[in-house]
Amino acid sequence: MNVLAVASEVFPLVKTGGLADVTGALPGALAAEGIATATLMPGYPSVLVALPDAAVIAEFSDLFGGSARLLRGTAAGLDIIALDAPHFFARPGTPYLDRHGVDWPDNAERFAALGWAAAAIAAGETAMTTPDIVHLHDWQAGLAAAYLHARGAVRPRVVFTIHNLAFQGNFAAEKLGALRVPSYFFTVAGLEFYGAVSFMKAGLVYADRITTVSPGYADEIRTPEGGMGLDGVLRARGGDVVGILNGIDTDVWNPETDALIAAPFGAARLGRRGVNKAALQRRFGLAVDEDAPLIGIVSRLTWQKGVDVVLEALPDLLAAGGQLALLGSGEAQFADAFTAAAAGNPGRVGCMLGYDEHVAHLMQAGADAVLVPSRFEPCGLTQLCALRYGAVPVVSHVGGLADSVIDANEAALARGVATGVQFTPVTRAGLGRAIQRTAHLWRDRPAWKRMQRNGMAMDVSWRAPAAKYAALFRACVGESR
Ligand code: ADP
Repeated sequence: MNVLAVASEVFPLVKTGGLADVTGALPGALAAEGIATATLMPGYPSVLVALPDAAVIAEFSDLFGGSARLLRGTAAGLDIIALDAPHFFARPGTPYLDRHGVDWPDNAERFAALGWAAAAIAAGETAMTTPDIVHLHDWQAGLAAAYLHARGAVRPRVVFTIHNLAFQGNFAAEKLGALRVPSYFFTVAGLEFYGAVSFMKAGLVYADRITTVSPGYADEIRTPEGGMGLDGVLRARGGDVVGILNGIDTDVWNPETDALIAAPFGAARLGRRGVNKAALQRRFGLAVDEDAPLIGIVSRLTWQKGVDVVLEALPDLLAAGGQLALLGSGEAQFADAFTAAAAGNPGRVGCMLGYDEHVAHLMQAGADAVLVPSRFEPCGLTQLCALRYGAVPVVSHVGGLADSVIDANEAALARGVATGVQFTPVTRAGLGRAIQRTAHLWRDRPAWKRMQRNGMAMDVSWRAPAAKYAALFRACVGESR
């Protein structure tokens, strides 16, 4: 079976969040299921550089205002099709934002172009084999479902995966004509969303199946509280919506072989984590003290991630004798506040701003606990990495966080199955109690070790999730139309 994946970011070619981790790792795991994936993505500069020997498989004389080509080659072990459209992608900045952090004004056209190219491949208009399944990731790929629906002809089955319903790709209705979407699609039953053109809704309405990245989030997004205005659309899809918990790349995230950490270790050599803890403390300017519980955070600095609540609960963390190391990038207000917190608490609070894979690995290897206090979290990957590295995850009880961590409550401790700490609500009081509980558990060294080993024994790889995607794809292909 052949799958065409369509995504705006793919690790290690370009990454702003967990989406890239998924699109970078899923093809390898699907290969073990006998499924070949080619991934269509924008030809950002970093992508084209990685594809020096790519073959041209299609050309467009006018793709929304400029000429473009599809280039196919292998990069980082992945079968990549880059949409080389210089008028859209030959730019500095991130995939979505300019140098000043402002959305590119033509994001609608940029990702419509991606969808258009996907539809051309799916319709057999390029020099590659027509795929059996088109797997669309998040709003950036959503319009492909509408274009394929508009073509009406026999087409591959379309699966749309929601990685974060908060980012919907909603654009002014005036864009509709320029996007080459039939005007009769602009209805409540189509891709109209409160007067805007919604790329996310296009995916939700016109795909054959919808998945999201955890069973918990699949439930939450069908409620008014978690549905971000799209819960009704999702409820109307009934059994077409399923949650499949993400995995992580267990070759990239392997504490026994990790070259980015100070001292590799395994479940049988947990003592060596101490070397990593000391290295992490030095890196963040913290007192090198093995008797202080070190809490780490690796996160985008946004409201979703609850980092403002961490700032509020900082006195509780310090009162519990803890240290905090934060690696993050995002909104200036939070970056400034953490910088000030570090300056005000030398040796006890450390903060590094920016995106840094190296430090992210050291964090997982050296922190005693990794905190993920999200207000909502479709899946969350940080806590999965933490489980694998023996850093005990302390997470809010939402979405994929709730699905992947077993709370150290009395029953779980008695049965010896706990892997972390869950808390609710995401408030100073809720987080403060969780920090106290974590510090208390940490001081019970045998119980803590047990939690670490339980977490490390969990299978957080892509093996089981890939089997679920494979089963879904097979079921889709087997269905009569
Ligand atoms: P989201 O996609 O919402 O940002 P996820 O938990 O799904 O959240 O994925 C985030 C991924 O990015 C994880 O692999 C995490 O370790 C990584 N990450 C987040 N912030 C940073 C950072 N500042 N430096 C390095 N890695 C980061």
